[in-house]
Amino acid sequence: MKITNVEAIILRQPGEILMIGDGSQDTVLIKIETDEGITGWGECDSSPYVVKTIVDCPPSHVVCRGLKDILMGQDPFDVEKIWNDMYRGSYYYGRRSVGIHAMSGIDIALWDIMGKAAGRPVHKLLGGRINSRLRAYASMLMPDTEEEVVQKAKEYMAKGFTAIKFGWGALGESREKDIRLVKAAREAMGEEADLMLDIGYLWKNSKYAEMMCKELEPFHPYWIEEPIISDDVQGFSRLTPKTTLRIASGEELTGLYEFRELIEKGGVDIVQPDMSRCGGITIAKKIADMALLNGIELCPHAFKSGILMAASIQLLAAYKGTPLLEYCSQETVLSKGLLKNHFALQMDGTVEIPDTPGLGIEVDEAAVAKYRIS
Ligand SMILES: [Mg+2]
Repeated sequence: MKITNVEAIILRQPGEILMIGDGSQDTVLIKIETDEGITGWGECDSSPYVVKTIVDCPPSHVVCRGLKDILMGQDPFDVEKIWNDMYRGSYYYGRRSVGIHAMSGIDIALWDIMGKAAGRPVHKLLGGRINSRLRAYASMLMPDTEEEVVQKAKEYMAKGFTAIKFGWGALGESREKDIRLVKAAREAMGEEADLMLDIGYLWKNSKYAEMMCKELEPFHPYWIEEPIISDDVQGFSRLTPKTTLRIASGEELTGLYEFRELIEKGGVDIVQPDMSRCGGITIAKKIADMALLNGIELCPHAFKSGILMAASIQLLAAYKGTPLLEYCSQETVLSKGLLKNHFALQMDGTVEIPDTPGLGIEVDEAAVAKYRIS
């Protein structure tokens, strides 16, 4: 099988893009076609415009090439070789950040193609399904008032969720406001449900984070995500031994070197690679193994469309730890509207793992055409 075309497709919701922590307002999909008529889909959580440039740009020299130029004519089953070809071919401008984001979307699309060609779901290719279904947590922005927090918490508990993450939004503005909002969430959700908090690295430094973790202990959050910037590995290494709360981080990291640093030196309790940023399914599988080897959990970050959620589901199906699925609960046309078979939450708070070939999704090409801007 040979790759015959690679396309980076930019989609955007109609109207204004708001400067809030909602990455589902636009996206870039990767569509890879082959000479056997099999098409694979991927997605990147990044600047769509920079990703498209990285995919499409002509070569400058051997370690400064566009990714489409590297992929054309290759066999999708050579996924590990292709990953290394892309890494080496983008070495001068890539290696970290958006260079790896673009590779991630391509890697997801290649796994989709391999699964479709083999007539097997991706989790079969990853070693087989270990988990029968996946517990999901609703993931949403922290509202500005306690009343809104209570309303959101009750709304999503009624849908069947047994865990909710409030992140970004109004969190991190002040000590007093953080405590008030978290108290309201805990009281609305009851004692049994799991409450996660994503601080969006606004707690200034590890000392302040240590103090805030102490303040929030009475509300027993399941984890505290990104209290400080994920680059501050020393800060994490000071914070983690000082709190009883689980500390989570890693959604912005790319490639194995950065994850090794955070896991081994930062000492976090939960690592959160985003499959559309970390290097794709190929790298996320290795991060999962690294996490388990170090006695910590992996919970993939996913706040885009159903394509990224599908990649997370396939990885978690074959994950040996305790699987937990991030379920993007922002109601944008892209977060829910790109698949004909978007993943429905079951009343027991879980999501079913598809057994159909590849990622197990059916992309709605009419919706892609409708929201496409480039
Ligand atoms: Mg986060």
